[in-house]
Amino acid sequence: MSSNADGASATAPVADLRAMDEIVAAIESVLGDSHRPVHLHEPRFGEAERQRVVDCVESGWVSYAGKYVDEFEAKVASFVGAKRAVAMVNGTAALHAALVLNGVVHGDEILVPAITFVATANAVVHAGAVPHFVDVAASNLGMDVGKLADYLDRIAVRGGDGRSINRTTGRTIRAMLPVHVFGHPVDLDPLIVLAARWGILVIEDATESLGSLYKDRACGTFGVCSVLSFNGNKIVTTGGGGMIVTDDEDFAARARHVTTTAKRPHAWNFDHDEVGFNYRLTNLNAALGVGQMERLEGYLAAKRRLAARYEAALSLPSGRLLAEPAGSRSNYWLNNFVLSPEMARHRDAILAELHKRRILARPLWTPMHLLPMYRSAPRDAVPVAEDMFARCISLPSSPFLA
Ligand SMILES: *Cc1c(COP(=O)(O)O)cnc(C)c1O
Repeated sequence: MSSNADGASATAPVADLRAMDEIVAAIESVLGDSHRPVHLHEPRFGEAERQRVVDCVESGWVSYAGKYVDEFEAKVASFVGAKRAVAMVNGTAALHAALVLNGVVHGDEILVPAITFVATANAVVHAGAVPHFVDVAASNLGMDVGKLADYLDRIAVRGGDGRSINRTTGRTIRAMLPVHVFGHPVDLDPLIVLAARWGILVIEDATESLGSLYKDRACGTFGVCSVLSFNGNKIVTTGGGGMIVTDDEDFAARARHVTTTAKRPHAWNFDHDEVGFNYRLTNLNAALGVGQMERLEGYLAAKRRLAARYEAALSLPSGRLLAEPAGSRSNYWLNNFVLSPEMARHRDAILAELHKRRILARPLWTPMHLLPMYRSAPRDAVPVAEDMFARCISLPSSPFLA
């Protein structure tokens, strides 16, 4: 390896240097002569999006009303097999609204995995609640259900009214936000049983897992409601966008109302019946989404092919690809190479070498409890989150790389 971007590689034993070269070469072999720089996940658009965006501009229907919002919601709901979908400006806003609409109030605690994009924890704080971080499983980077069960036994009691209460802080543990990290489903069945036993709501953070299946059922259809994201780097994008998905029609109607400034329908009066949000997706963004949904099946197939190629190239003594969890079907949003424990100290040198070749691989998100604003948040010990943070490298995974 020619790069000495960090001290570890400068002094690395020859065998390690050889292993690092092998990893970089394997990644390059999968990417071939694709364009550089190659980002983690890049959107692609064509006529399907162009025609609809032009239609918005020419018709003047660019804002919070228009046929593409309805069409986009209907397409996503039918794709995942849910009754209702309510589109929003982004996934963070949708998470915030989902928490508030499910009765999360100031001072509640919400269980959040230590490994997630920061938006999950931020939405909890926006709702006035406290994120309470728990560890993840090495197999899929999602909440570790067995460990969570033991942890709740240690820290929580069931109050007379059925709520779970944190024995130390006295706060209600109102909900949990399992995240299907990189599209790999969390082990939902035992998690939902555990949550029910403790009277804790499950709000599915399915922002990375559109198209993933857990035991033949779509991620985004579990829990009291689910949240999707259509950010620019997600499998399907509206530029920025999010969605609440639910089978509960009354809940969906309330979500629509509250995120549309809680305005009561009337021909001319401005009557609002509660403090609402201005969180609805615009028609212009939804126009992109309608076109993108036509590509989703193709994207899923391409991403599965790409994952198989990474898996074949990266079955190395120095690490392996993060595997699809048993009994589930991942959308393979982002492929991840998991370094062997001995190779973890070379993670940044490998990242530096990849970046030198304009392959913009990334580490995991910094675990939530290590971020300054969440350092003093309540949490379990999270050794697996810390270990996986040290060992994972996210790889370019756009469908057109397959
Ligand atoms: C993308 C994402 C979100 C939502 O992000 P937005 O950019 O606000 O759409 C939330 N949680 C996770 C885990 C995500 O990856």
